[in-house]
Amino acid sequence: MRRQRRYAFTGTDGLQAGLPSGTPGFTVAAPYSKVGWNASDTRELSFSDVRVPAENLLGELGRGYAQFLRILDEGRIAISALATGLAQGCVDESVKYAKERHAFGRPIGANQAIQFKIADMEMKAHTARLAWRDAASRLVSGEPFKKEAALAKLYSSTIAVDNARDATQIHGGYGFMNEYPVARMWRDSKILEIGEGTSEVQRMLIARELGLAG
Ligand SMILES: Cc1cc2nc3c(=O)[nH]c(=O)nc-3n(C[C@H](O)[C@H](O)[C@H](O)COP(=O)(O)OP(=O)(O)OC[C@H]3O[C@@H](n4cnc5c(N)ncnc54)[C@H](O)[C@@H]3O)c2cc1C
Repeated sequence: MRRQRRYAFTGTDGLQAGLPSGTPGFTVAAPYSKVGWNASDTRELSFSDVRVPAENLLGELGRGYAQFLRILDEGRIAISALATGLAQGCVDESVKYAKERHAFGRPIGANQAIQFKIADMEMKAHTARLAWRDAASRLVSGEPFKKEAALAKLYSSTIAVDNARDATQIHGGYGFMNEYPVARMWRDSKILEIGEGTSEVQRMLIARELGLAG
């Protein structure tokens, strides 16, 4: 049978789960070995007949699922902002490198092929920023924001992967070396299309918001 996976960021005290470490039935597995996001601690959490003290209740009793969905909607804006930062970092590192690196007697940034690539990367990062800010301003002003959060998450994660690929290409061989920041950006970009709902899930949500639910 397929193994059920559960991922979570856990602190050393396990309080993110609303449970103190050491609660009977609650176990925290060893850290996963990940492709990227090495600064975050990701582990399997297991709950087996765990009894939770009433004072540890998070949110409102009986509304867990609704609260969970709302957290996901808000989380998509955060992931979108994170993806935008990564996409912009790719632009900044590429501009720097394109000025620094000389090939065939001139900076590689003097070539229109490199300039156009970087201009497209900047366009995407800028547009992603507008998308998550729009979703965030709707959230803050109390307007519906589910579709806008999904659009922002889908777009920004897609272009973060694009920009990471292009930035790596602009860095040539050094793009594959860990000493340059773009290598980390490349490794860290892919999860943005997966976590907080995959790109396929975002498309399903957007279609549903457009009245196309099956
Ligand atoms: C580093 C990391 C950190 C994470 N942190 C957290 C966390 O803090 N909290 C948390 O709750 N989760 C976390 N996750 C889990 C993450 O949200 C899930 O991995 C993600 O939502 C995808 O779910 P899944 O892995 O079960 O993929 P699956 O659901 O098995 O999907 C596999 C593939 O099938 C596609 N698919 C599935 N159903 C459909 C469909 N109906 N139509 C079309 N395509 C479909 C998916 O899009 C995907 O491409 C984390 C994951 C990772 C890798």
